[in-house]
Amino acid sequence: MIDLHAHTTASDGTLTPQDLVDLAAAKGLCVLAVTDHDTVDGIPAALARGKERLVEVIPGIELGAKWKGDGQMHILGYYIHSDDPPLLDRLCWLRAQRRERGLRMVRRLSELGVPLSWDRVVQLAGAAPIGRPHLARGLLESGHVESISEAFSLYLGSGAPGYLEKAELPPAEAIGLIRGAGGVPVLAHPATLKLTGSTLEACVERLAGQGLAGIEVYWPKHTEAEKASYERLGARHNLVATMGSDFHGSNKPAIELGMGCTEGVDVDQMLRALKSRAGAMRSARQVVGQTVDVGQPRSRLEKQQVVG
Ligand code: AMP
Ligand code: ZN
Ligand code: FE
Ligand code: FE
Repeated sequence: MIDLHAHTTASDGTLTPQDLVDLAAAKGLCVLAVTDHDTVDGIPAALARGKERLVEVIPGIELGAKWKGDGQMHILGYYIHSDDPPLLDRLCWLRAQRRERGLRMVRRLSELGVPLSWDRVVQLAGAAPIGRPHLARGLLESGHVESISEAFSLYLGSGAPGYLEKAELPPAEAIGLIRGAGGVPVLAHPATLKLTGSTLEACVERLAGQGLAGIEVYWPKHTEAEKASYERLGARHNLVATMGSDFHGSNKPAIELGMGCTEGVDVDQMLRALKSRAGAMRSARQVVGQTVDVGQPRSRLEKQQVVG
């Protein structure tokens, strides 16, 4: 078993990187990607624990992308160099934006008659970029709601009265940032785009043209029909099909680590394909050095050379 999509306390998961790796080892997972939102802070501890527990930890990230559609677009990055300066610079900006938005949401909640202590939210987030799950925990603690999911349905979900959009990078920038850091950009949970048919095809084709290298076909909430459709879509655009549970610990109690490993899927082949893309990214980075921005392939030909 493997899991290529999991969050830790470095973002909005409830297990520390160490505990996440321990859980992976206890479940018999041999490969685990740590893909926190907008931060690489959990990676060093996860890598170190992975060595001790004999779990191969893939350094990853998950970035939200701003686009025109109603749904959410998230881009995962695998095998990123977590010390890449342009990446760290952008993450710092995103973190500041999240803080600003969190504060505005707290003010809004208080106007709605649901007072929440900003200091407590900051404490709950710890070193993590502040997100809605931290506000949800605050609402739960102060007795305003009975569960995290109620916090989202009553106050924090998109369309709910306390919701505010967060700052996100344009898709091409998110993809370019990941590639620039030597990582493999993969479209997370395509169902959340809320697109089907030709509009989905056009969206994925555009992302592939911007350097997208994979698509998360296997995700616990995808139906069998969606998985089949995303698998074909990925094949048409030369994208590696990946899997991931999107584990968040008790912030999403229905999701277990390793969920989404579908019977009949060759995970060895999946990992080989992902690794070979990472190798291609790395050699492109070395060959071009500082002179060419590998983050943004300018032509189909260059894309093939870079992506392989
Ligand atoms: P943010 O990035 O601050 O907008 O928060 C998004 C995060 O909130 C997602 O990654 C999920 O972890 C979490 N989330 C969104 N909707 C729900 C929900 N209905 N129940 C629990 N967690 C949710
Ligand atoms: Zn999350
Ligand atoms: Fe996501
Ligand atoms: Fe996620």
